[in-house]
Amino acid sequence: MSKESESGAFASPAYKVLQNDQVGRYMVANRELQPGEEIVTEMPFVVGPKACTYPLCLSCYTPWPPEPDNKPLCSKCGWPVCNQDCENSLQHKNYECQVFVQANEKFNVDAALDATSENGVPQLECITPLRLLLESERNVERWNKEVKNMEAHNKIRCKKPQWKSDHVNIVDYLRKRLKLGRFSEEYIQTACGILEINTFEVRTVKGFSARGLYPIVAMMNHSCVSNTSHSISPVDYRIRLRTTLKIPADGELYASYTHSLLPTMLRREHLLEGKHFACACSRCADPTELGTHMSTLKCNKCDNGIVMPLDSLDSESTWKCTHCEFSTNGHAVKKVFQIIQAEVDAAEAISGVDGADAIHERETIMKKYQSVLHPRHAFLSMLRHSLTQMYGRVDEYLLDDLPDVVLEHKVDMCHLLLQVLNVVEPGYSRVRGMTLYELHAPLLFLAKGQWNANVIDEARLKTKMIEAANILKEAATILCLEPSETSEGQIGLVAKESLVQLEQSINDL
Ligand SMILES: [Zn+2]
Ligand SMILES: [Zn+2]
Ligand SMILES: [Zn+2]
Ligand SMILES: [Zn+2]
Repeated sequence: MSKESESGAFASPAYKVLQNDQVGRYMVANRELQPGEEIVTEMPFVVGPKACTYPLCLSCYTPWPPEPDNKPLCSKCGWPVCNQDCENSLQHKNYECQVFVQANEKFNVDAALDATSENGVPQLECITPLRLLLESERNVERWNKEVKNMEAHNKIRCKKPQWKSDHVNIVDYLRKRLKLGRFSEEYIQTACGILEINTFEVRTVKGFSARGLYPIVAMMNHSCVSNTSHSISPVDYRIRLRTTLKIPADGELYASYTHSLLPTMLRREHLLEGKHFACACSRCADPTELGTHMSTLKCNKCDNGIVMPLDSLDSESTWKCTHCEFSTNGHAVKKVFQIIQAEVDAAEAISGVDGADAIHERETIMKKYQSVLHPRHAFLSMLRHSLTQMYGRVDEYLLDDLPDVVLEHKVDMCHLLLQVLNVVEPGYSRVRGMTLYELHAPLLFLAKGQWNANVIDEARLKTKMIEAANILKEAATILCLEPSETSEGQIGLVAKESLVQLEQSINDL
């Protein structure tokens, strides 16, 4: 693997793959890596719709039909596409299209449009496994070398209801309806497992999501505090994996396969359900979540007590107050979390495009639960994350219109959010970059306002501008690591330009 490095002509590869009995294969730094350094980049072995999906175009994953009375189907196979271009895209034309034509299997439009959104469209579940199976025959070398031994967890999955549903909607559908008996039942289930456990979400240019299989990047183990970040190009779906922190030689590289702004109980549940393992990382094992208190509740029986689990790796654990005798159990806490999460999810579904309601709904929930949740609780952090992006961008709340109290509110929220992010998304993570970017602007507006009102003198103004410039600089450094086709990458470029102007105006003072 490190052949090139011996010649001295190239920098040695950033990672190497090791193996042990406990975790199987895993990745470590091959040498000391700096924050933001690229570790590896690879093209997907396969890209396709997610397991449970709404009706969509098989090429560009845009919801289908494009308009209620325009239901375009591929002229060859009769499955949903947007138009001629999508019909002719290679990933449709060279894969499932040919199989559907040969088996004379049509897309059932009425059934798909009748389907309740919760269960998706069963007929579409076969698409990505089918593409993977066809690719295993066409790209034998990469399949053998990188894909076929990926974790599929068949022994665990075969006991779950999903296995039976996959058997009907995918195994039987491919073998019987699509006449692909050459793929054995076990081979197809393995393909399903590999996809279920290892794929990453990809976003299209229009912002719709699908999934992609990246065998090298998928070798990384999970930690709820990762030290890498990946970005996937919406144009060609190439993945780029980079560090977020300095990593010593032989230090393990970790990805996070769950949402970092969830409390431990819900992260572990998500990982157990979707990835079939019980996370015991240092964050999960610590009842305080590394001091962030993202799971902690406020005690309602005393004044200053907080309530935490005795054993955060046991979902049934007793939860006790730090100041009084109050105790409860994991089961009761889970119920509370489920109720709040449902409200948070409903608010999070309102996008800023819908106007000021998006802000009001989130603020209402923050207020409602401020006496229940620790100030840095995961749910409040989640809401703060979207609110910091919305204040200054949403109608009625554009930056120029914000009064000082609202600017200060935005600054406070960014600071509180960063206290959490500095621990659970440390270093050059995208979300830290975005939050730092959101923080710099209100700081500048407030400083200029105070100077205009003669509250501060020019020297003080300069100090405050330098503070904002340092924050903007870190934001630009982080976000410029993102591909320029993504919105974060675009903000990175804007941040870089604003920094030049800001530094100029600081020098002119
Ligand atoms: Zn399309
Ligand atoms: Zn077709
Ligand atoms: Zn964990
Ligand atoms: Zn108490």
